[in-house]
Amino acid sequence: MKNIRNFCIIAHIDHGKSTLADRLLQETETVGERERQAQVLDDMDLERERGITIKSHAIQMDYEGNDGENYVLNLIDTPGHVDFSYEVSRSIAACEGALLIVDSTQGIQAQTISNLYLAIENDLEIIPILNKIDLPNSNPEDVKDQIVDLIGCDRDEILAASGKTGEGVPDILEAIVDRVPCPEGKPNDPLQALVFDSEYNSFRGIITYIRIMNGEVKKGDLVKFLNTDKEYYADEIGVLRLEREPRKILKTGDVGYIISGIKTSTEVKVGDTITHKEEPCEKGIDGFEEVKPMVFAGVYPIDSEDYEDLRASMEKLKLNDASLTFEPESSLALGFGFRCGFLGLLHMEIIQERLDREFGMNVITTVPNVSYIAHTKKGDVFEMHNPSDMPDPNSLDFIEEPFIKAQIITKSEFVGSLMNLCLAKRGMMTNQQYLTSDRVELTYEMPLGEIVFDFYDKLKSISKGYASFDYFQIGFKAAKLVKLDILLNGEGVDALSTLIHFDNAQSFGRRMCEKLKELIPRQQFDIAIQGAIGAKIISRETVKAVRKDVTAKCYGGDITRKRKLLEKQKKGKKKMKQVGNVEVPQKAFLAVLKLD
Ligand code: GDP
Ligand code: MG
Repeated sequence: MKNIRNFCIIAHIDHGKSTLADRLLQETETVGERERQAQVLDDMDLERERGITIKSHAIQMDYEGNDGENYVLNLIDTPGHVDFSYEVSRSIAACEGALLIVDSTQGIQAQTISNLYLAIENDLEIIPILNKIDLPNSNPEDVKDQIVDLIGCDRDEILAASGKTGEGVPDILEAIVDRVPCPEGKPNDPLQALVFDSEYNSFRGIITYIRIMNGEVKKGDLVKFLNTDKEYYADEIGVLRLEREPRKILKTGDVGYIISGIKTSTEVKVGDTITHKEEPCEKGIDGFEEVKPMVFAGVYPIDSEDYEDLRASMEKLKLNDASLTFEPESSLALGFGFRCGFLGLLHMEIIQERLDREFGMNVITTVPNVSYIAHTKKGDVFEMHNPSDMPDPNSLDFIEEPFIKAQIITKSEFVGSLMNLCLAKRGMMTNQQYLTSDRVELTYEMPLGEIVFDFYDKLKSISKGYASFDYFQIGFKAAKLVKLDILLNGEGVDALSTLIHFDNAQSFGRRMCEKLKELIPRQQFDIAIQGAIGAKIISRETVKAVRKDVTAKCYGGDITRKRKLLEKQKKGKKKMKQVGNVEVPQKAFLAVLKLD
């Protein structure tokens, strides 16, 4: 135990976490030159392409310290995105130390701070590292000032490194050994192991990643997962090198894996505690939470014949992603599909992309919404995952919506316009702090529902890319929300309904109608586009009729050309959805995301 060091790396995206992790593996000869492949830790294609780590993994290194002792270093990789912040928090709970990496050309960013808070909450020893010092525009002295301000360390505790050239990497390894405490825990107590991640393997079933907090586990032991209350035999246990390496025993302080014939991801919950069936530990490890989807959207096959295929694909995805939820739903406009729950917007995008890449499924995703809590006058309380769940306004007492605390770090020149943006999104500023003379940290409380629309895009364009943003949930608050419906020639289009704050409904309805007018092509009759709250029409536009005679251009008798054009027009129609007598192009269903 005394020679074990368990640590993670926290950083804002692109500050060099993966590159540095690779360097550590190389320096400790954990990966041979032959196997060396850039960014070993990000093993999903999608992750590699996007340069983000979606699922956390762990890897063990051997290291001989300058003191001549042999150390075992376990690097636990954490996902970088806020959608996965619960997983980050559980990975952090499995460690005693964290490398805090800051890009020396960029300085501290929003994610640096939010992940740092998690690490400090878990009492981790923080080793601050300035990265990318090989770059000519590196600004080490200023960034050091920021780090000193942020964590209150001494200037000379900050290491400087380059993941690219390898400079400074040996010092990082020494600092891990010197500064990160060895695991504490009681080897003779009953087994208590923290589940910090799990992974689906099509041959082995679910592989559960664990950190032994107390006691020990042997191959073949009968173990119990406390929160799911299920029992399994530990068919295989071991440690994580580049490959899994089976062992007979894992002891207090060790990081490793356990395979126990579990077939679906829902049986293993991150944050759960594993103990022995006989002689269990007294209580579970603190901090367990059920992860709940936060963002919901309808997912429909473009071709309605693909419904069953879509169901099969979603079931397969669910096997290795327990945080995905779905249930059948039908829409008058879009036919049969599923209402899916996601951890956040990135998670939604990832699922959509995996459906496309891994299963060849083309889907339409409707406008995302968050989860609301409705309180009726009769005293019923229920969650709403879809605008269509909204009860009759007369029976409704009030609605609550989820709130977040958001951190924005930007240059001072953009502060004014960003404040306006946040105000428009119903944000309340709770703090404003200058990190340096031209960098400002803004803290806001905002409804999550406002972020799922077009907040990121606007933030980026207003700040010309010089703003970073991160958030975490802080609970629910009552809000005056109404359901805004869109009618086409008098008929409601369920897939276009949204829940929106009463004060914004008027202007939102107007902009929706204007946008739809642009997107819906003229047809042989006038099309009335209306926004309505209940029976009250609040906005209206009209698409004027036109007879679109595609064959008019073909003079005379070229019959094959005529036929080709007609075929083409038919194909064009397939990309439309028939709503009543109106044909609506698919992109109109996402119109709400593109409002100016
Ligand atoms: P992550 O998102 O924190 O995992 O960041 P990556 O390790 O994927 O690095 C982001 C980008 O920065 C990549 O293009 C890397 O090649 C580059 N990068 C990482 N570390 C360094 C460094 O020390 N020096 C330079 N010049 N580039 C680096
Ligand atoms: Mg990475």
